[in-house]
Amino acid sequence: MHIYKVGGAVRDRLLGRPVSDIDWLVVGATVEDMHAQGFRPVGADFPVFLHPKTGEEYALARTERKSGRGYGGFTFHASPDVTLEEDLIRRDLTINAMAEDEQGTVYDPYGGQVDLEQRILRHVSPAFAEDPLRVLRVARFAARYAPLGFHVAEQTLALMRQIAESGELQALTAERSWKEIERALMESEPQVFVQVLHDSGALKELMPELENGRDTLAALHQAAQHQQPLAVRWACLLRGLEPAAIKALNQRFKAPRECQELAVLVGEFAGHADDALQLPPASLLEMLQKFDVYRRPQRFEDFIAACAMAQGDAGYPQADYLRGAAAAARAVEVKPLVEAGLSGQGLGEALKGERLKALQAYKLG
Ligand code: ATP
Ligand code: MG
Repeated sequence: MHIYKVGGAVRDRLLGRPVSDIDWLVVGATVEDMHAQGFRPVGADFPVFLHPKTGEEYALARTERKSGRGYGGFTFHASPDVTLEEDLIRRDLTINAMAEDEQGTVYDPYGGQVDLEQRILRHVSPAFAEDPLRVLRVARFAARYAPLGFHVAEQTLALMRQIAESGELQALTAERSWKEIERALMESEPQVFVQVLHDSGALKELMPELENGRDTLAALHQAAQHQQPLAVRWACLLRGLEPAAIKALNQRFKAPRECQELAVLVGEFAGHADDALQLPPASLLEMLQKFDVYRRPQRFEDFIAACAMAQGDAGYPQADYLRGAAAAARAVEVKPLVEAGLSGQGLGEALKGERLKALQAYKLG
């Protein structure tokens, strides 16, 4: 049996980038050979194993055929007679279709190194169209490697357009799509992901809500520049959309709760935040209550960050003003009210009244 490093590890080493996880490929082995060497299978009917010591993934060389709609509709053929070239040809991009053996020899049957040098994201073969997730993957790699000058090959973009037009993107599960979206948003140029989806016609299939409001891309870019967390980036992307559109996008991709919440809150209150300095204390209080800034201070910070990102480098004086208001409301003590004999609804009302007074004083101060 022959063992090779494949995929991202080879690509990123050649690019001089840090390699995070290594994918291994095993050619010329049977499932029984793997068991005999102490490898543990990852799943029942998938030819992938975990190394007994390192825990890294070792996949048996395989070919695959599309047998139906969606990703479930794939049949794999893993056997010792599948060659390295046969395994590599089923991969998405030429830069991802290289292998390296223990001596450091690079196997590159599909021109990955030339494409790396020329900064081109190019599909390996027409079989690219068999898995629509690859459209998102290409857009994600474009976002990741944009700072290095990479772009999508014209023929690959044409193939992506065909996939988009075929309607196959609708067959992707929320989980598979979100995983790509999430990773793309965390790249250094996440707006490139959205731009490439737009250019390939995939955006109007996946996120039609974003088709006419792409000025939010500047906010998203800004959020990445400031190393903002995922929820802030998602909220920046959805900023300015109608509540129904925000809800639809949240649900379509089953975004994590934190992302969903922040996007909804930004949709509802970003205008208030922008006008914070002119806002009457009662409206300010209503907003702080809605955010539950008393128990969820970080969520309010993320909200402020998302609002600030939309202003570019102009600065956002509202941020400190809002933080000050939250601090003033938070400083109101519950204890004296309880000691005065208040409880239940009465306590809630009194607390609110005190907080309003605190905000009035803050506004004058
Ligand atoms: P990353 O740095 O994001 O991990 P990667 O290239 O290693 O990048 P993985 O998702 O770890 O990406 O996949 C490993 C390899 O498997 C890829 O380089 C590619 O060759 C292949 N691959 C993964 N998913 C697909 C897919 N949907 N279609 C075709 N090839 C794929
Ligand atoms: Mg990888």
